Amino acid sequence: MVKLQSLLSAILFALSATAMEIPSDWTAPVEPFNVVGNIYYVGTAELSSWLIVTPEGYILLDAPLEENVALILSNVEKLGFDPMKIKVLLNSHAHLDHAGGLAAIKAKTGARLYMSKADAELAARGGKDDFAFGDSATYPPVVADVILQDGQGVTLGGSAPGGTTLVAYLTPGHTKGNTTWTTRVRDGDRELFVIFAPSISAPGYTLVGNAEYPEIVDDYRATFKRLGNIADPASPTPDVVLSTHGSFFDLEKKAAARRAGEAENPFVSPGALGEFVETWRTHFEESLAQQRDQK
Ligand SMILES: [Zn+2]
Repeated sequence: MVKLQSLLSAILFALSATAMEIPSDWTAPVEPFNVVGNIYYVGTAELSSWLIVTPEGYILLDAPLEENVALILSNVEKLGFDPMKIKVLLNSHAHLDHAGGLAAIKAKTGARLYMSKADAELAARGGKDDFAFGDSATYPPVVADVILQDGQGVTLGGSAPGGTTLVAYLTPGHTKGNTTWTTRVRDGDRELFVIFAPSISAPGYTLVGNAEYPEIVDDYRATFKRLGNIADPASPTPDVVLSTHGSFFDLEKKAAARRAGEAENPFVSPGALGEFVETWRTHFEESLAQQRDQK
């Protein structure tokens, strides 16, 4: 888990500042590229945005920051796709750095936005009254069209080749409606199980005696356990582990290898999920123990 400490302090610093400070890599452009199968990266150096291409239009997962919207849409175009064919908008969680651009993209494309109930409420407030950040990281409010149930699939392109279903798992903690997405993709002659792993950090969060979120510790622990066990009938563990921040899955290095045309796709790494979850779980338990000691 490279750069985890520096990343954590960057996020903590950014989000605890009274006036929200945006780290420069949150808006730094990177060349968009094909990740695996019909999944493309259209985000920035640090904040992920995923385009999933189907015969009936596109799914966009996450729209980090309002000021990145033009860049995201131009990345879609650069890849040869028409941004107006974005039909479905999904979100990992309703913080500024993953949901800040949803309102603008929804208005421009008319795409339908699917969100969990708790994060739909946070997004409708534009990030205000966040249990951890209060009103310090707000963004243009956006209203979800569909409220997701746990385990619900969102399909575009039906059963035609390239038709894709993403499945939502509610994994609360980082936000109360924090959502993990999985899908299966065809990549050449193989089929791969892909997870869009959520943010599971707790940057500066009050874990002991949190009146705004009394069940926070139980939620995090259940989420770590659930994530660690995510499987599907054909795969005991995801073959491809992507996530919300580039530094969570070594985007820079892997993207360079992918662009260089490495024979083995660097994003295919079965077993990576276990390491991801364990790293964050350990960090969480250390923070919790520290907070308990201080009480
Ligand atoms: Zn967040």
